[in-house]
This record gives sequence, structure tokens and C-alpha cells, in this order.
Amino acid sequence: MNNPVLTIVVPCYNEEEVLPDTIEQLDGLLEELMDDDLVSDKSKILFVDDGSRDRTWQLIYKQSLNNPQVRGLKLAKNAGHQNALLAGLTAAGKVSDCTVSIDADLQDDIAVIREFILKFREGYDIVYGVRRKRESDTFFKRSTAQGFYKLMKKMGVDLVYNHADFRLMSKCALEELQRYEETNLFLRGIVPLLGFKTANVYYDRKERLAGETKYPLKKMLAFSFEGITSFSVTPIRMVLALGIGSFIISLLFGLYFLGLRYFGETETGWTSLIASIWMLGGLQLTAIGLVGEYIGKIYKETKRRPKFSIEVDAFNLPISRHLIMDGDQDDELADIHFGTLSETN
Ligand code: UDP
Ligand code: MG
Repeated sequence: MNNPVLTIVVPCYNEEEVLPDTIEQLDGLLEELMDDDLVSDKSKILFVDDGSRDRTWQLIYKQSLNNPQVRGLKLAKNAGHQNALLAGLTAAGKVSDCTVSIDADLQDDIAVIREFILKFREGYDIVYGVRRKRESDTFFKRSTAQGFYKLMKKMGVDLVYNHADFRLMSKCALEELQRYEETNLFLRGIVPLLGFKTANVYYDRKERLAGETKYPLKKMLAFSFEGITSFSVTPIRMVLALGIGSFIISLLFGLYFLGLRYFGETETGWTSLIASIWMLGGLQLTAIGLVGEYIGKIYKETKRRPKFSIEVDAFNLPISRHLIMDGDQDDELADIHFGTLSETN
């Protein structure tokens, strides 16, 4: 089998403190993977500078001149982690058989990348790095993060539990990802929607190597809100349910208030007033919820998400890797396939 071309994509925002170490460690890892004949010698590390205001880009650029394995991409302004990652993956997808995305602070264990590659060579298209424990996090970060996963699940968003953006994606999976053209990008929610053969690899997450987190509480909250509102119409449904609920309650209360009135225990005018407040409130919420349902439909339509993702397309040769990997392991065919992918680079 020809060795796959790997690109490791690293989004960086004001990471000058940690970058020299990160470059050295990732470069060392890539060398090892090449020496062990697991990845092609055309493999690269792509650093995406997400509009940093410090010396991050200078460091990346200088390295790329001295080291052919290091490549850089500079965004004109800060676009946010998810967008920076997508920019890197898009650029890398064109020239690689597989990509691995990892944060610049190397909190994720880079040794696991070897396992990602082994899984890829077994025929998996998406390999998730999943954190075993969250001991390196503060109690606050741990509980808010776990609360977030639970909330997302309740809202009907399919996420891989305890997986951040540390994952391997094959060229086919990346091509499918390109078809999701939404502006509010939440990769962790989209990647599971792609389908494909997926595997989990478990690891322990470490402390940040240096520098400070680029996700303070404010950004974390914004990120969760983004995640929920770009994937779920459950909040709208809750308004509708609340409206219907209060309307039903208003009817029951109406009867009760009428009873009170009948037995003469209330002031004149009170019954009709309180009953209409409840009833109108309930009706208004129901109406808002109903309008929301339609807005929800519009919102789903405007995303123009693809309706299917193709895994094997034997109609257009070359034969997809899966035909070969899943069925009888025909090395010769596998060679042809990897050969074809790599030739386009
Ligand atoms: N990052 C980015 N753009 C931003 C914020 C963060 O590219 O606007 C990068 C950052 O450089 C890092 C990754 O996203 O490589 C994750 O950020 P961080 O490690 O600070 O988040 P945490 O691990 O604390 O959640
Ligand atoms: Mg981090």
C-alpha cells in the first residue's frame, strides 16, 4: 500500500509562547511516522494563523522557510477557532489523503496521532480523539463542559461525548464536509452528521503547554449558544409547549375562578380580568411558538445542508478505498487507489 499523505492542521491565535515547542514536537512526530513508513514523506504540518496580534505568524513563516514539512496559512483577520480550522482543512484536503486537526497548545496527546493513522489505514474515514478523564481541567471548566454536552444531547444535537476538535478525517469525509455551506460553523455537530466509518481513540488531556486559554467564559458561553441555535429548533418548540401549557392551565383556572365567583368570594371584575390575562398570555405564547415553527423551517432550509453523503461511488472510477478495505483486502487495488489520490497532489 502506498503511504497516505497526512496533513496536521493547527489553528493558532496569539500562540507565540507555545508555538516553538508545538512546532518541534509535531515535527518530531511527523518524522517518526515517516520513518516507520506509516505516512508519505509528502506529509506536512499546516499552521493556520487566525489573525493573531502577536508574533505567531512570524514564527510560522520563518519555520516554513527553513523546514519543508511546515506550512502556514494566514487569515486576514480573526475568524474564530472553527473557521480557522475549516480554512486549514479546506486547504489541506486538496493535497492530502487524510488530515488531523489539533489545537496549538498540545493539550491533546500527540502520540495518539499514530493510532489515528493506524485506524485510517484499517479503513476508517473519521477517527475521534476522545478524552478519557478531565482531570487536567479546573472543576469549573469540567462541570461547564459536561453540562454543555448534556444540554446539547437534550436539545437533540448528536455530539461525540468528551471529544473536542482533535480528529482525523479522510479526503472523502472532508469533501463531504465542504458541502455544508453554513455560516455558523459548529464542526463538532456537523462531523457526526457526515456518516462514514468512524472510530474512537481514547487519551488523557494535559495542561496547556504555555500561554493562556483563548476560550474564556464569555467565549465558551457564546460557543455553546452557537452550537445549540445552529443545530436545534428545540428552544422554539419549548415556547410552543409553554404556550399550549398555559392556555390549558388558563382554562382550568377559568373554571376555578368561575366557581369562586359563584360562591361570591371575589371582588367584582376580578374573575374576568385574571382569566383573560392567563388565557391571552397562553394564546400569545402559542402563536409565537407557531410562528417560530415556520421560522425554524426557514432556518433549516437556508442552511442548504446536503441531504446525503456518498461513501462509495463505483460509478465513477477509481474505486473508493472502502470497496477494497471492507471486502477482500486486495493490496494491489489499494495501491492503485492510494496512488491515484497521491498523484493529484
Ligand atoms: N483559536 C483560534 N482562534 C480563536 C481562538 C482560539 O484559532 O479565535 C485556537 C487556539 O490558538 C488553540 C485552539 O483554538 O489552538 C483552542 O483554543 P484554547 O486552547 O485556548 O481553548 P481551550 O483548550 O482552553 O478550550
Ligand atoms: Mg487548549
